[in-house]
Amino acid sequence: MCIVDSYCKRCGREIGEFEQWQTNCPKCEDEEYHFDAISCAGIYKEPLRNLILQFKLADKTALLPTLSDFTQKALSRSSFVGEIDYFVPVPMHWTREFHRGFNQSHLIAKKLNFPNAKINNDLVRTRRTKTQTAVTIAERKKNLLNAFAVRHNHTFSGKKICLIDDVKTTGATLNECAKVLKEAGAVKVFAFVLAVAGQGK
Ligand SMILES: [Zn+2]
Repeated sequence: MCIVDSYCKRCGREIGEFEQWQTNCPKCEDEEYHFDAISCAGIYKEPLRNLILQFKLADKTALLPTLSDFTQKALSRSSFVGEIDYFVPVPMHWTREFHRGFNQSHLIAKKLNFPNAKINNDLVRTRRTKTQTAVTIAERKKNLLNAFAVRHNHTFSGKKICLIDDVKTTGATLNECAKVLKEAGAVKVFAFVLAVAGQGK
């Protein structure tokens, strides 16, 4: 299934249907997050994995209605849906976006229908990073250091923000984005991803 409720609301990892964790699951208790909560459509496995890969790598924008529908449904069920001022797509470096022709997270954000939440693109990627899948966990954090910034005329101060991305693996990208947004004055930063990978500790 692609829309699940049985996941940890702090890290997004799958938990048993009858397990209830108040704040975090045992797998994320030692992890530090700058985002306050996470919502996801599912786990990074078939059939969702293949849909995301096709959407992202093969420019199959025909999948946009399906994936934005998953996003709309999952966010509607999240604890923070009523609080979002801005949707902020996790930015790609412009050279990569130019090459691909689109930022898939931005396309999804544009399809969402939550009347009080607007799209805000004032979080930017300041330098091109190595593809995250090609580096180790330790390298990921270093790789992302100072990779994001906010535009000087941003309006993030005092706002509640929901980041949008396709896949959470270690959470390093979301973490770095959330950190930058909070430094810019955001009071809450939530995260939405289509799928959560990295189910191990
Ligand atoms: Zn957790």
